Amino acid sequence: MSNDYEVYDERFNGYVLPNAPLVCLGDGFGWTEGPVWFADLQCLLFSDVPNNRVMRWTSSGGVSVFREPSQFENGHTRDRQGRLVSCSHRDRGITRTELDGTVTMLADRFDGRRLNSPNDVVVKSDGSIWFSDPPYGINTDYEGGKQIQERPATVYRLDPAGRELSIVADDLVGPNGLCFSPDEAVLYVVETGRQFDPKATQYIRAYDVEAGSQLRNGRVFHSVKPGNADGICCDQDGNLWSSAGDGVHCIAPDGTLLGKIKLPFTVSNLTFGGRNRSQLFICASHALFTISTNQRGVVFP
Ligand code: MG
Repeated sequence: MSNDYEVYDERFNGYVLPNAPLVCLGDGFGWTEGPVWFADLQCLLFSDVPNNRVMRWTSSGGVSVFREPSQFENGHTRDRQGRLVSCSHRDRGITRTELDGTVTMLADRFDGRRLNSPNDVVVKSDGSIWFSDPPYGINTDYEGGKQIQERPATVYRLDPAGRELSIVADDLVGPNGLCFSPDEAVLYVVETGRQFDPKATQYIRAYDVEAGSQLRNGRVFHSVKPGNADGICCDQDGNLWSSAGDGVHCIAPDGTLLGKIKLPFTVSNLTFGGRNRSQLFICASHALFTISTNQRGVVFP
């Protein structure tokens, strides 16, 4: 086994490839976030948040600018029609990039008050959009710009028609990354706590999805150490792959840490992509990395 891995449970041996190197695809960014894979275009988009741009990586062309300025976008995903859905810190809302390239604001207010700075987003199979809204993008000028907070940190659901925004969780201090289990019975939500608080509560929480549109039975699923979780994603067997201070952690559906892929920098976010969605793309501090695995990410989007 390569030095790039730490194995805590033998199941992890079957998920990684000892001869697959960790490859740096680009660096020199401010803070990378929000990777999203486009299998149809064979490209990855990811945010360079402090530099107010979204980057694109392809295996043939390397890294180029996809969108600048990006309104300090952070997390991205795709909806069931393949359209890009993004979290805008600066515009304090969720946008969708239409197939003709125009950008539509889908949600930027709740109860007449502005959202904070949506951080991460997922689309459920019914087309509903679920996202976290902590104030991290309006707390500093670095990742969006200081603005007044009007709403508590919340996890929202936008209905499939895009008309009704509802609160699905308001019991987290600083909701951040989120992802559904493959059967969509569980929503995992990372809690990163109050910014600048060294004693911030930082957990991956799990909620049961009830009636397809509500969350129940919120509970602590796992606590990542060292550092904390930020972005997360699931493989097809329901294992959770989490960002961490020392790399990527693989966590079984029962919360057991199975193993780690060690990286030299703090990891912020990650996604499966590439051939058969078995390649991890990892945003780590100022750089973008990739490593092939022997697991496959959830197939769509
Ligand atoms: Mg995040």
